[in-house]
Amino acid sequence: MVLKLNPNHQLLWHNPSTLQIGTDARSVVLPQLSAEQERFIDALYFGIAPNQLAAVAKQARLPAQQAQQLLEQLKPLLQKPSDDQHGLGLAAFPEDPSQPQFAETVWASLQHSTSGQAVLNQRAKRVVQIDRLDASGLLAMLALAAAGVGTLVALDQEVVSAADTGPNGYPEGLIGHPRITAATLILQATWPASRLVSGSQLRPNQLDTADAVLFLAQQVIDPKRYGPWAARGIPHQTLIFDANGVEVSPVLLPGKTACLNCQHLHRSQNQEHWGVVSSQLLTSSLRFDHTSNRFIGIGLAVQVLLGWLDEIGGFGCADSHGFRYNCQTAELERVEWQRNQACSCALVTASAA
Ligand SMILES: [Zn+2]
Repeated sequence: MVLKLNPNHQLLWHNPSTLQIGTDARSVVLPQLSAEQERFIDALYFGIAPNQLAAVAKQARLPAQQAQQLLEQLKPLLQKPSDDQHGLGLAAFPEDPSQPQFAETVWASLQHSTSGQAVLNQRAKRVVQIDRLDASGLLAMLALAAAGVGTLVALDQEVVSAADTGPNGYPEGLIGHPRITAATLILQATWPASRLVSGSQLRPNQLDTADAVLFLAQQVIDPKRYGPWAARGIPHQTLIFDANGVEVSPVLLPGKTACLNCQHLHRSQNQEHWGVVSSQLLTSSLRFDHTSNRFIGIGLAVQVLLGWLDEIGGFGCADSHGFRYNCQTAELERVEWQRNQACSCALVTASAA
């Protein structure tokens, strides 16, 4: 494994002798930096094979013990090995011009302490289904494509209506066209490296290979929408817009995590009349995915979903949580979902154990 400083951790000088490396929580400040240490750090940005460490330290005229000490300090800023089949070393991981650009690779690299390109190469293999391609579904699709997700699937049979149009929706000229055709045109024009597939062209066993399904809903989600996917064991996530803001679920893994019914039961226990209220909200035609709610919600949902997709890609273990954003108070809350013992999903798991 090559020892290499992640180039996305920047070098910043406080003064001619104090160096800060990186700007996030892992940043390291090195006061009274010697010219020898500086040369060694330069070499670490290029990458040092472990068996060359002593030779490189000697070349930088840095005593071996000091080199080891410095390396220990900089450990959180080193790249982890990735699936580098060509033996090129992480610095030489081939750039793929068809992959998303700059900010996505920088963030992927810092998030997983590895080559951003390696993360995006894995995301290109992922398949995410979006159940509705209304204006919010379209934006979610584009956000996932921008982050490198290779295949997006939709079962949407609707046509583009006036409600789906706008600056962050479909152009008015596409009103009346099937949403899936219109969304395909937009994706091809903006990011042809990703593809949108109509679920109706896929066999049920192909649909079951989706890495996750994203459901977007207003106020409450009808169990009929997610039930079949949960029953087939497919990971899924909900993004629900309401009058208070937006709620993003963790990626729910059937049989392993809490489920949407657990959440409904918790709410029924904590909120009087939730059962009757929720059934009335289900029939409401009001929409709450106004621009700020839409952008915040999709941003949060994509962040959580990418954590799961990167875990499948072999980049660490995602910390499963959701979010609740209150647009009245501007408070963002991280939410852990707990199982409800009254839910049948707990019984199913207990009987399988
Ligand atoms: Zn449950």
